[in-house]
Amino acid sequence: NCFTYFCRQYNSIEPWLKQKKPVTLGKEQFLQSIKDRDKLDGLYECILCACCSTSCPSYWWNSDKFLGPAAIMQSYRWIIDSRDDFAKERLKKLKDAHSVFRCHSILNCTNCCPKELNPAKAIALTRKLVAGVSKKPKSQMKVTGLHK
Ligand code: SF4
Ligand code: SF4
Repeated sequence: NCFTYFCRQYNSIEPWLKQKKPVTLGKEQFLQSIKDRDKLDGLYECILCACCSTSCPSYWWNSDKFLGPAAIMQSYRWIIDSRDDFAKERLKKLKDAHSVFRCHSILNCTNCCPKELNPAKAIALTRKLVAGVSKKPKSQMKVTGLHK
């Protein structure tokens, strides 16, 4: 059913922090600058209710293929995270006919979000990154040792 696709699509964007450097758990902390942290506002609050995806006409006709606004917005949430090192790989995965380019800016998604988030805007920003029109800003993250 539709929700099976929704969960599969969310899972496919690998919604977790991925780093390239080996991490010693409990030994380091990754300090995000306030400016970098601000970029996650309006993205992390998503409750995965699926209202946006199920109100999207592109999703009605292609829910088995099109990632849909919720999954694309969550992909963007990790792409833009200053602590995540896999933006390039994440963007590469979205460079197909069933991701950002399937959205036709109809805005149903943004109009129906109960959390007043803006998936259409997140898709537009992701599309710019996928197309190479804009670049992920340089991370200001500081890695520090933990004080015992
Ligand atoms: S409608 Fe809003 S809260 Fe619900 S899944 Fe979409 S973006 Fe997330
Ligand atoms: S803006 Fe894109 S994702 Fe949102 S409802 Fe329209 S086509 Fe769907």
